[in-house]
Amino acid sequence: MTEESRTESRPFEADVAKLLHLMVHSVYSDKSVFLRELIANAADACERLRYEAIANPALLGDDVKPRITVLADAEKKLLTIEDNGIGMSREEMVESLGTIARSGTKAFLDRMAAEGGKAGEGGAVGEDTALIGRFGVGFYSAFMVAEQVDVLSHRAGTEASWLWSSDGQGTFTVTSVPPDAMGRGTRVILHLTDDAKSYAERLTLDRLIKAHSGHVPVPIALVEKPGADPAEVTDGAALWAKPKAEITAGDYTDFYRSIAGQFDDPALTVHFRAEGRQDYTTLFFVPGSRPFDLFDPDRKGRIKLYVKRVFITDDAEVLPRYLRFVRGLVDSADLPLNVSREKIQESPLLAAIRKGATSRVLSELERVAEKEPLAYARIWETFGAVLKEGIYEDFERRDALLALARFKTTASTDAWRSLKDYVGALKTNQTAIYYLAGDDIERLQSSPHLEGFRARGVEVLLLSDPVDAFWVTSAGSFDGKPFKSVTQGAADLTLIPRTDAQAEQTEADPAVKIFIAFLKSKLGEAVSDVRVSDRLTDSAVCLVASDTGIDRGLEKILASAGRLPSAQKPVLEVNPRHNLVVGLATLGEGDGAFKEDAAHLLYDEARVLDGERPADARLFSERLARVLDRGLRRD
Ligand code: ADP
Repeated sequence: MTEESRTESRPFEADVAKLLHLMVHSVYSDKSVFLRELIANAADACERLRYEAIANPALLGDDVKPRITVLADAEKKLLTIEDNGIGMSREEMVESLGTIARSGTKAFLDRMAAEGGKAGEGGAVGEDTALIGRFGVGFYSAFMVAEQVDVLSHRAGTEASWLWSSDGQGTFTVTSVPPDAMGRGTRVILHLTDDAKSYAERLTLDRLIKAHSGHVPVPIALVEKPGADPAEVTDGAALWAKPKAEITAGDYTDFYRSIAGQFDDPALTVHFRAEGRQDYTTLFFVPGSRPFDLFDPDRKGRIKLYVKRVFITDDAEVLPRYLRFVRGLVDSADLPLNVSREKIQESPLLAAIRKGATSRVLSELERVAEKEPLAYARIWETFGAVLKEGIYEDFERRDALLALARFKTTASTDAWRSLKDYVGALKTNQTAIYYLAGDDIERLQSSPHLEGFRARGVEVLLLSDPVDAFWVTSAGSFDGKPFKSVTQGAADLTLIPRTDAQAEQTEADPAVKIFIAFLKSKLGEAVSDVRVSDRLTDSAVCLVASDTGIDRGLEKILASAGRLPSAQKPVLEVNPRHNLVVGLATLGEGDGAFKEDAAHLLYDEARVLDGERPADARLFSERLARVLDRGLRRD
């Protein structure tokens, strides 16, 4: 006996053991997802073989037609899923079926851990396992229905066959079997538990395959009992190659679920064929809900690239990163089949497909935005934060993306507003698109910076996504109107008439001017300037950025993202008509100390209104105590 032919028993990687515990004890009601997962693996194996065979046709031998066969044996409670795909070598089996490869499974485990560590404990596993269906946990889901799983596999181009076997209780074995035990491919044999024995019945299997694997691009046949003839359940025809008129909404949804690994309904389906200089078909879906990896730092897309129905790679970045939520595929008739994946990436033909496909997705979004605003609002709510990345990443399509963007504004915090809506509602003499940025929409709404804008009926965009800090400073303008922060520079609202029947701003009182100079001298280095405000109507003071400085809310977001070394000094703006300001300005000589306390307290008040703390907590409380004390003694 050689070293390798002995049966070797190995423990599972810790994460797999956790996952298996979950599967074995699962009370998840829809256990049938296991079949979808095993068939998807079988189809992947066939597609991988087809791809490798381009360079090495000998791998196919006489068995050239990909196929998946599901064999049932109700009497023995056995269910077998067999494919003539690429197969696995011994090492590949140990690696693939003993560790966790897919990011979805990892995300699933992380979620379970976050929800109380149930995945790792021996405790009851409750409705959380409903997540299994949403994440798709791959091969290991077999242990929801089987007390033992055997995997026989023969890697294309090798001589050996191997048997992997486990009861899901912590270890697995790998044994060499005679090479002629099976031809190329993989056979997954499930020893069904009593609860799950219906999965060996023809009707159940027929229904499940049609419902969940109906559009797998490899034909699936069913052998209802040992010795019976295989009956074709699905034909493996590529859905995307069929004429649209022959495809139902249900077909699209099934296909979306099988290709996207998402189990919701697509919010938008984009199926089109480009002909002419380039001949390719795309079938894209915008998911109905957020994929779990939407904000992964690597921001990878998941569009599959096919060439003449042969799956090539899902790494081709067919769509830009700001469209990474889109799922689906592109099938090109023109790309050469016999070049490496790396070469394909650099191909000018692929660059042309990228361009065409991206424009098509954006124009479809535009169409929905125009024709079905409610459906579009849902898409925007789910993916707007990602789409906005395109405004600063895709210069060429910036205007299109700005037109797609939707906002909460001071004119409407329930319904979304477009920039077109905004520009259509500009006030007399208004030349800019105003925005206020921060991390919390509620606080933005109550910001004193908005007062002067409200008094004039000027709409302000309320930006509360972290990504806003990046695009709004680089977008420049929309429809010729520059973006301008309400906290930045002098507001210059005086030219826009007030709509609240209040008197227009008049020149500040000389006493107020002297008081402002006093504030400047007392606050010293804390601020870069103190000046009269156009933007305040109700509050006494606020902080703004200097004329050249970056918006204060954005500054904070950038600083917390580590993108800004040091914050700039703000300007303190003073409302010259506020009772408090007028009162302080007209105090007599003898009130110097009180006035000085008030100066610092006003500055601290402006900081607090901005969501910050007083500059010096101890001095703040001393000053406050003195001022309150004076108030008490006067009464
Ligand atoms: P995923 O399919 O997302 O990678 P799975 O847990 O379902 O995750 O499968 C793990 C790996 O096992 C696969 O990536 C593949 O390498 C291998 N595998 C599973 N089933 C088959 C099969 N039928 N033929 C060949 N390889 C397979």
